[in-house]
Amino acid sequence: MSRELKPLLPKAGKATFGMYCCGPTVYGPAHIGNFRTFTLQDVLRRTLEVAGIKVKHVRNITDVDDKTIRGAQASGESLQTFTQKWTEKFHRDCAALGLLPPHVEPSAVAHIPQQIAMIKALVDRGHAYVAKDGSVYFKVHSCHDYGKLNHIDFSKLETQSTNSAGEANDADEYERESASDFALWKSRKPEDGANYWSSPWGEGRPGWHIECSAMSLEHLGATFDLHGGGIDLCFPHHENEIAQSECATGVKGFASHWFHSAHLLVDGEKMSKSKGNLYTLDELVAKGFSPMEVRYALIAGHYRSSLNFTFKGLEDARSALAKIEKGTDKLLAAAGFTRAEFVPPVQQEIQTAWGRFASAWEVLQNDLNIPGCLGQVFTVLGSKEEISTEQARHDISGLAKILFALGIQLFTIAPSVGIPPEITELGAQRWAAKQAKDFAAADRLRQQLTALGWSMLDRKDGYDLKKN
Ligand code: AMP
Ligand code: ZN
Repeated sequence: MSRELKPLLPKAGKATFGMYCCGPTVYGPAHIGNFRTFTLQDVLRRTLEVAGIKVKHVRNITDVDDKTIRGAQASGESLQTFTQKWTEKFHRDCAALGLLPPHVEPSAVAHIPQQIAMIKALVDRGHAYVAKDGSVYFKVHSCHDYGKLNHIDFSKLETQSTNSAGEANDADEYERESASDFALWKSRKPEDGANYWSSPWGEGRPGWHIECSAMSLEHLGATFDLHGGGIDLCFPHHENEIAQSECATGVKGFASHWFHSAHLLVDGEKMSKSKGNLYTLDELVAKGFSPMEVRYALIAGHYRSSLNFTFKGLEDARSALAKIEKGTDKLLAAAGFTRAEFVPPVQQEIQTAWGRFASAWEVLQNDLNIPGCLGQVFTVLGSKEEISTEQARHDISGLAKILFALGIQLFTIAPSVGIPPEITELGAQRWAAKQAKDFAAADRLRQQLTALGWSMLDRKDGYDLKKN
């Protein structure tokens, strides 16, 4: 909002850093563009944790909107069955990519009463009005600092309340009084099928923006520390969230910080479902890339810059990870540690030493500069300097923390050379199912592997695939 970098610390007097991230719309598999945003949020959260800050990470599930309703109806499933299926798939992909589960994962459908209560508060305070069909709209011109996040000049907001000659329009001609007003509640339409709820304004369903205002209020309070999302959400979604929340609660300062990640592009265009230029994690795994390689490729660019997706980028991620594994093995040997002793730190157990990785940590903490941090990591790993066992142990402590912050898990996947892509894919899916504690799916996938003549040997921190 200020276009400045600010230190991230929990609000004065609070022990926990509250972080709200707009989550996925569950109407199909999330694409890796979506996962760029979710993975960068995961790195931010992990970095805060390594810095000793206790984080409460809330990431919602959008399980009611035009897309989910259309998808459920096309598949002949109930909205609940349909969105549950895609939520589970999302969880499996998240686990495969090493994303820490958020502390709270509220769903829009499970927060209908909270959304209605907030809309009611907005109507009562004169910030919203009910249209003839029972839809409710937010009155943007009632919110005098609307546009502050995107630095929009309020006086220039498009309006239909007056025509170009400055004469008042007949409000009855329009469902919305102003073109910039947006729906808080949408009255029931035949195409919504069975997906409607009762409200003081009749049957209908919430508009999209209100869900994040209602769920952040419920789980983090009227003000919290940081709000995240892809850059496409900055306007109008986040601007609308601020307006709804601050006008409903009367409390200014909805989110203290905003964290918007730039897009993943394909041939210079945003990767998106509507453009049909997307890749899913499954597609990349089927081509022989491990989820960790995908993760690395997604975080290797700075969050403020768009990142062009290429297969060359995935190949680079593969060699970068191999280089980190090799360098880590060398350091472990110098420290007299085994691979099993290279344990990612859990918050309470973070050792204080950083060794030669102190500068990588410094760089990471400055505006979450992941590429800069990785550059420092390679410099240290490539150094020919002779070090003592004790120095190597300090290095190991520092490196384990850096890799934990980046969410890079080493030594998890056996090299996939010689393993057919469909076997690699089944293996990755089974590992992800196991991580997500979906044991029924994990068993089913193991049986499929067995039927194809392969076995999967689980280790504590990964697995190997062996031909029977
Ligand atoms: P959605 O499921 O469409 O609500 O999007 C989930 C998240 O992915 C949001 O934070 C979006 O801003 C983000 N997102 C969508 N497309 C991309 C992309 N191509 N690159 C990065 N983030 C994206
Ligand atoms: Zn949102």
